[in-house]
Amino acid sequence: MNVDLVMDDWRKVGEPKSIYNTPLGVELSAGDLHSGTTFRAVVVFEQNVAWEIERAFKEHGAYPVFRFVPSMAIGVKGCDIERSYCLICRREIMTESGHICPSCTNAINERRQTPPERNA
Ligand SMILES: [Zn+2]
Repeated sequence: MNVDLVMDDWRKVGEPKSIYNTPLGVELSAGDLHSGTTFRAVVVFEQNVAWEIERAFKEHGAYPVFRFVPSMAIGVKGCDIERSYCLICRREIMTESGHICPSCTNAINERRQTPPERNA
């Protein structure tokens, strides 16, 4: 999916809040990486996730907003995102909380919406 990546903030591993208004944040924002700078990007979503995003936009004008965490930060001490595995399909996922991947979550939600079959 083609997306525009809009620079919003500077964060630092181990610090829960923005460092944008610190001396380091000011220094880091001196170049192209400051609030509002936009980059074209392609994000590879599973098809059902891409459909969900398209449907939300077409039906409601709504779109998700993500936090940008470079893969090199995953697993670094203090990073709040870590690798884990889906409890159902064992696929690797990255998560703050909850340990079921988006595909399995969708499957569960679809099952909940389907009325139970009657026993003949
Ligand atoms: Zn799964």
